[in-house]
Amino acid sequence: MSEQVRVRFAPSPTGHLHIGGARTALFNYLYARRQAGVLVLRLEDTDAERSTEDSVRMILDDMKWLGLDWDEGPEVGGPYAPYRQSERLDFYRSQQEQLLETGHAYYCFCSPELLETKRKQAQERGDAQPKYDGTCRNIPLAEARARAADGEPHTLRLKITESGSTVIHDRIRGTVVFENKIMDDFILVRTNGLPTYNFAAVADDAAMKITHIIRGDDHLSNTPRQVCLYQALGKPLPVFAHIPMIMGPDRSRLSKRHGATSVNAYAGEGYLPEAMINYLALLGWAFDDKTTLFTRQSLIDKFSLKKVSKNAAIFDPAKLLWMNGVYIRDLCPEEYVKRALPELIKAGLLPEPLDEATWAWAEKAVLSVKDKIKRLAELPQNMAFYFGEEIELDEAARAKLEQAKEYPELFKTLHDKMAVLKSFSTQELEALMKDLITEADIKFGVLVHPLRAAITGRASSPGIFEVLELLGQERTIKRLAAGLKSVGIEV
Ligand code: GLU
Repeated sequence: MSEQVRVRFAPSPTGHLHIGGARTALFNYLYARRQAGVLVLRLEDTDAERSTEDSVRMILDDMKWLGLDWDEGPEVGGPYAPYRQSERLDFYRSQQEQLLETGHAYYCFCSPELLETKRKQAQERGDAQPKYDGTCRNIPLAEARARAADGEPHTLRLKITESGSTVIHDRIRGTVVFENKIMDDFILVRTNGLPTYNFAAVADDAAMKITHIIRGDDHLSNTPRQVCLYQALGKPLPVFAHIPMIMGPDRSRLSKRHGATSVNAYAGEGYLPEAMINYLALLGWAFDDKTTLFTRQSLIDKFSLKKVSKNAAIFDPAKLLWMNGVYIRDLCPEEYVKRALPELIKAGLLPEPLDEATWAWAEKAVLSVKDKIKRLAELPQNMAFYFGEEIELDEAARAKLEQAKEYPELFKTLHDKMAVLKSFSTQELEALMKDLITEADIKFGVLVHPLRAAITGRASSPGIFEVLELLGQERTIKRLAAGLKSVGIEV
């Protein structure tokens, strides 16, 4: 039986989950689910200055919002707990001891100032990428320990074999060869006693028995160092799979310049998690050259590393917006209403809690614009005409209303008849207007366009009868009278 797949998502909690992180988390999640494996969530929070408790909360919440549930990690525990690096410092100490004892690591007493001076000197000599010169490499361990015990500031470095090359068989990038001579004895433990990213990540990946490392290809350059570290620790290598970078539409690295980059911002703008998942999956992966819409389950069924591209992915906000609209239209009415009403409450258009009658009204109102919006956050603006008494007309609406001037009598009659209508229902309103246009022998639009403009302030709206019924007789009559008056038709 082959070994169980174990993957991990290892964010540094320094803010909300961003698009790139979410895509990495998703690929790990899909791979784990596809392979009936385990997804580990590990927080790389040893940088005390940048990692905050708030960020931890945000990342966990963002993961939950996306529905990316992890099998081991914060809140759920697991056999390799703890899953926060800041709680694993004793473990890193035991690992560094092992590396020192086996001669793979050594104490370095070179001060930052000294290193800087040497670096500058090497550059002056024409060395474009100066490396650590190995000054402390051969200090006997006992002597180094004594100096350290005396309080001399130090770091720990990994002893890298200088000759030969390190070959990585990356599942996505193929075979990548790094010459060892360009690597230097990199730092494992800083002067403050805390492990560096490369050290803590490898120690944990090995201890947590991670079989596949799926992460952004900005980490490809760290991989040869990490491979050396696996070897030094005597641990088997995982499979590496470096997924392509994400760029903005202008093909520069995705950043705030391109608009919102945090998942949370998209949640706030009314994107649905299922649309985000679908869209993120397409950032570097494709099933074929035509399918764009995938449910979560179909992504799990179809995802494979083989179909992940080497080439950078382009984040296209317009496509995400389009996709979100598709997902909104696809929601069943109950689910849509459940997600839509909070937007109106948030905007102060509906009270909380909602009484039964308001709920019933609001349900119909939000449903009337379901196929008109692409983001839930568009609702308050899109439905503004359902609220308040008076309405302001936009330019297009004003032009439509002007057309009423050609049929002043017709609009007066419409107003008067609507004012006395017994039941202000879709059916009654429709019957009334049909009678009017038949009698006047005009097209439906002649009556409806100015009416819609006066009532909604816009040139387009959901079905007019539905809008009128939801708006009610009083407000309809008031707005129609005001609108007609503004074009010189007194009622
Ligand atoms: N904490 C690292 C990051 O957020 C993890 C990189 C890795 O997956 O090894 O970039």
